[in-house]
Amino acid sequence: MKRLLAPALAIAALTSLHAQSPGERAVDWNRLRPEILERYRDLVKLDTTAGSETLAVDYLKKVLEGEGIPTRTFALDPKRANLVARLKGNGSKRPLLILAHTDVVGVQREKWPVDPFGAVMKDGYIWGRGSKDDKPVLAANLVTMLMLKRLHVPLDRDVIFLAESAEEADTTGVGINFMVREHFPEIDAEFAMTEGGGATIEGGSVKQVNIGTAEKLPARVRLVATGTAGHGSAPRLDNSLIHLAAAVEKVGRWETPMRLNDTTRAYFEKLAAAGPPEQAARYKALLNPASAAGAQQYLRQHSPAEYSMLRTSVVPTMLKAGVGPNVIPSEAEATIDVRALPDEDLDRFFAEMAKVIADPAVKVVPLPRIRPASPASRIDTEMYRAMEQAAKSVYPGAMVLPSMSTGASDQAQLRAKGIQSYGVGPASTESDATDYPAHGDVERLAESSLYPFVQYVWNVVTAVAARK
Ligand SMILES: [Zn+2]
Repeated sequence: MKRLLAPALAIAALTSLHAQSPGERAVDWNRLRPEILERYRDLVKLDTTAGSETLAVDYLKKVLEGEGIPTRTFALDPKRANLVARLKGNGSKRPLLILAHTDVVGVQREKWPVDPFGAVMKDGYIWGRGSKDDKPVLAANLVTMLMLKRLHVPLDRDVIFLAESAEEADTTGVGINFMVREHFPEIDAEFAMTEGGGATIEGGSVKQVNIGTAEKLPARVRLVATGTAGHGSAPRLDNSLIHLAAAVEKVGRWETPMRLNDTTRAYFEKLAAAGPPEQAARYKALLNPASAAGAQQYLRQHSPAEYSMLRTSVVPTMLKAGVGPNVIPSEAEATIDVRALPDEDLDRFFAEMAKVIADPAVKVVPLPRIRPASPASRIDTEMYRAMEQAAKSVYPGAMVLPSMSTGASDQAQLRAKGIQSYGVGPASTESDATDYPAHGDVERLAESSLYPFVQYVWNVVTAVAARK
């Protein structure tokens, strides 16, 4: 049995808005906390592992419609529905889309010290699958919609709420691919905001806020080596395994060229201009062609994700060959996880890879791509500036910088359709991000990170969509 706060109570918790300027609409955040926590925990308690996302849609529909916000559901698979709700603006600006995925990755229950779907509160954390990925964003978006409605905030643009299924693995195309392909007018917007950013806590306060503005494109290939099959007792020069092994070593050690874009240049420049001197010096060295090589090697050893931000990366991940210990296989193959910079010319890149391998017995075979190539979102938009401003006001003293994810997300589909899309996320310490990461054995979020994050989302939405 769910115990929801009555809307009237929550409204009473708010200060009057009449004197507030747009974008600075004051909500009594202290008094809203119990409701934020309850909504968030309700969502974490739903086991929305791939294939059961409709559980979240049913919950969201009830909450939104209970407060007079109409919803529509779109389902290619009835168990994996998507939900859209729209608050209308006066149409003077194009819509803002706030979205979050409802699915979570699976759990190995024996690894959890608590029920992974209990939203247990312990040691200052809320524990549960999805507690980081992606229920904080889902909860923040939900609370933002409820507050816009309760406070009758006049809007210059529609605010569209999307809860989408199947972000983690959309092999059947029921989530963002379905929405973009079949129902794009329902979610078409000038700007979008969703997971894909974050913030770092150090020494008890937020030191850095990353706004996600770009992501790399997974563009995997197979290396296929062929030779003559034969008996293991008779060595052959054209043994496919030997050719494959040499090719894997060459691409695995290949130093692809470093290339910065607007996002990564701004990111590294900001780090070079601030922060501890030793660290700043390293980023300065990276930006200077004369010293970049050494700085890159440092990142390669100590910060693989930042090293990956500099280039299209090439990582061997799988090998497949052989049928028996005494059989020379006629074919051997490796899978290479290539993560391309947003502007990479992939045909040229794969031709370059073939040159690096320099072996006619080994072919480079691109695998089908699961996401479209997507240009980086601009960092000179009203939305980006509003996010910077909101981050500075919610996390005073933090450095705010654009960032390119080395992973992939549903923002790719939105950016490919021309939407300027930006990533957000709650703050976490470095150690918590390492020990309890999204998709990790155990996931948890500090309760103290939840409330400022909701406030951040609210500030951005009101700054960009509320009537000026
Ligand atoms: Zn996610």
